[in-house]
Amino acid sequence: MRLASQAVLVTGASRGIGRAIALRLAAEGARVALNYHAHGAAAEALAEEIRAAGGEAVALAADVADPAAAQALVEAAHARFGRLDGLVNNAGIVRDNLLLGMELAEWNEVLATNLSGMFHCCQAAAKFMVRQRSGRIVNLSSASGERPNRGQVNYAAAKGGVNALTRALAQELAPRNITVNAVAPGMIATDMSARVREMAGEQILAAIALRRYGTPEDVAAAVAFLLSPDAAYITGQILNVDGGLRA
Ligand code: NAD
Repeated sequence: MRLASQAVLVTGASRGIGRAIALRLAAEGARVALNYHAHGAAAEALAEEIRAAGGEAVALAADVADPAAAQALVEAAHARFGRLDGLVNNAGIVRDNLLLGMELAEWNEVLATNLSGMFHCCQAAAKFMVRQRSGRIVNLSSASGERPNRGQVNYAAAKGGVNALTRALAQELAPRNITVNAVAPGMIATDMSARVREMAGEQILAAIALRRYGTPEDVAAAVAFLLSPDAAYITGQILNVDGGLRA
């Protein structure tokens, strides 16, 4: 129970990695606010599952790309628990395309959700954490932030930005006892990666030293560690969770 009674907001928690993070944090004793955008029923079912297991959870709707909605989301999570110990910026999308075919909307949507959404939530959460003089922020980056693939200039730019935001914010918030780190998954078996795994599965597995895709639970374990007291002296780091993925 490393996270006993810690209040943590997880964005994009209705499925995939965010869902696994919420379950893991709740299992370690955290009270969790589960943000969702498109999948309300799944988020409500997850909150119910956590409550049935004796935990505390609330599902909160918001599009993190919308600055006002993101701010209202963080305020609602804080109001629900009376404090905010952790923020996990997990919400993300892909809109893969080669540069010459990429629509401006595909560029804008990915930057707005994956990078600006993170900025909005960090800014809103930091207001509470600075007052508390404590807090933990964990951002979901990607191996693509430093070792991108073809067809991902939007996603790679956003995740590279996530890494830079993480390092910069860690410097800024450290004097207030707030740590900021990122987890950079490789190829994790979720809906998001389904198409790529289907198209290039053999090739991808050959590039992974452990010869398997990661699970959402592999990523959740790293996030839980960074939120826990065990990681008190770690900030500004990008932790690869990629099974030894080659560049
Ligand atoms: P997913 O598509 O299964 O889940 C993403 C979640 O984010 C969904 O619940 C979705 O509704 C939510 N979301 C999307 N836009 C949102 C918005 N504007 N506001 C609020 N919520 C929103 O994807 P996943 O594989 O679970 O990915 C989770 C995170 O991990 C993402 O940031 C992704 O970039 C990152 N990641 C995933 C992989 C992988 O292989 N799956 C690899 C590296 C990084």
